[in-house]
Amino acid sequence: MIIAVDGPTASGKGTIAIALAAHFGLPHLDTGLLYRAVGRQVAINQGNPDDPADALAACEFPDALLADEQLRSEESGGLASRVSIHPQVREALFARQRAFATQEGGAVLDGRDIGTVIAPDAPIKLYITASATERARRRWLEMTGREIEIPLAEIEQDIIARDNRDIGRKDAPLKAAPDAMVIDTTTLGKEEAIAAVIQAVEEALS
Ligand code: C5P
Repeated sequence: MIIAVDGPTASGKGTIAIALAAHFGLPHLDTGLLYRAVGRQVAINQGNPDDPADALAACEFPDALLADEQLRSEESGGLASRVSIHPQVREALFARQRAFATQEGGAVLDGRDIGTVIAPDAPIKLYITASATERARRRWLEMTGREIEIPLAEIEQDIIARDNRDIGRKDAPLKAAPDAMVIDTTTLGKEEAIAAVIQAVEEALS
């Protein structure tokens, strides 16, 4: 069984995908990490993330890069959203994601285009969302916890800019698949959101 989990940054989709994977005993792939690795590799290569050739060359990143803590930074998120605009990059990362999705026994993948492009055949599709203000607050709390000081307003601006890039791009824009269950986590705590999603998936399966 493939479970596709899409949604904007800091919507809770990653946490929810991990919880679903544990609940159903399925392997999980955070596809955002692949785009973050490409963004980081462009920086390592001293290339330009807005240049399609530089971004494509960075798709040859070493697997060890996926474990780099730097990938979790806001800077890597911003670079990821710039390189992910190029169709060449999306194509280069497609086979790896598709192979993960179609492995025997199934898988949970989270990202922006799992239900629409990578696994439109997934029987369970979720679109997790929350208001930009709430997502900025969550990201700010997370960063403050890691002792990174950054004004809340700056995070909100970054989140809105990233949303606009992800939603507005021509190739595989961020959007809910027509048959996705849309879950808004704005007013839900982490455990409530996880419980709500597991219940929705259990109901859809029964
Ligand atoms: O999910 P995460 O914030 O790690 O993703 C970073 C960026 O990678 C996103 O803003 C988006 O531009 C890009 N991305 C994508 N398609 C995916 C996953 C991530 O375009 N499936």
